[in-house]
Amino acid sequence: MEATKILVVDDSKLIHKMFDVMLRPHNLVHAYDGQEGLHRLAENVDVALILLDVNMPKMNGLEFLEEVKRNADLAEIPVVVISTEGKEEDTDRALKAGAVEYIKKPFQSEDVLGVVQRLAVN
Ligand SMILES: [Mg+2]
Repeated sequence: MEATKILVVDDSKLIHKMFDVMLRPHNLVHAYDGQEGLHRLAENVDVALILLDVNMPKMNGLEFLEEVKRNADLAEIPVVVISTEGKEEDTDRALKAGAVEYIKKPFQSEDVLGVVQRLAVN
């Protein structure tokens, strides 16, 4: 598996630590809210996949997703929403906003690994 740059946008430090271990040898870029996520994307033009939480301060995941899809330079990057907001309307909203996949927390590491293997192509 080739190492890919993956942006993780989540306000939980634990999630970042888990993904650091789980997604080795990929290169992770870390952001803790949607605003920071947009800054990291501007700095890292080679991000190939985004793993996105919904509930975050400053700018939530759905707002971040809308910004990404509105920007022609970013719109093609696959976004996987990983969130405890498991209600059907939240799933719908994320998928309608352009997420390719919705994984509910708590997740099995295989769920995330499977999606990353499928989508993290340079
Ligand atoms: Mg959160």
